Amino acid sequence: MSGKRVLGVGAHPDDLEILCGGTLAKFAKKGYSVVMGHLCRGDKGHFEIESEELAKIRSREAARAAREIGARSVGLGFNDLELYADEKSRKAVVDLIREAKPDIIITHSPNDYMPDHVATSKLVFDASFSATLPNFVTERPAHPVMPAIFYADTLAGIDFQPTDYVDVTDCWQKKVRMLSKHESQLAWLKKHDNIDIIEFVEVVARFRGQQCGVRYAEAFRLCQAWPRIRPCRLLP
Ligand SMILES: [Zn+2]
Repeated sequence: MSGKRVLGVGAHPDDLEILCGGTLAKFAKKGYSVVMGHLCRGDKGHFEIESEELAKIRSREAARAAREIGARSVGLGFNDLELYADEKSRKAVVDLIREAKPDIIITHSPNDYMPDHVATSKLVFDASFSATLPNFVTERPAHPVMPAIFYADTLAGIDFQPTDYVDVTDCWQKKVRMLSKHESQLAWLKKHDNIDIIEFVEVVARFRGQQCGVRYAEAFRLCQAWPRIRPCRLLP
């Protein structure tokens, strides 16, 4: 193990796999400890299966996907579309951070496509600061590191200008396997959004790959706020 820790924070159980699964796989391969967090239960993402049952299914799918790379899956249990950047949720994200103790966090871009993603992005930014303060009292002790934050690509890369790329060509199949664990969503996204999500992520990764001269890439934007900037590359 490298001793370094990465925390991915997605809104829903499949978001990290879609946006940065290859990068998390690379981190894991390099010996980083990887925690894959999702704030919402994913309980609205189906036509037939009702919320409570779906939340259980999606929790299992997330755990299986994380297991593909030896990561740990953690869900905070908020209902889909009921996530707001408020006191309760900030404290919950602070405890997620204090428990995972990350050097690096990857989360949604502040301008991503739906409210849970936008709220997650803000919560991570706010909570990662609060988490360092011993007098911000929650269930867990303060995490003394102000983690670097990378915002993952937006859905379909819309209105996203990357600052960093990760070549995920060598772990592409791993990313596809992780995403394929979310069986309930492969069907849902086909029906609700008329997309084949595996093809969808491949198109984006080929596009980002073309921008940086490799076959498949994932794109990121560094959160440029003091004191989170480091004088070296942090992504694999
Ligand atoms: Zn999502």
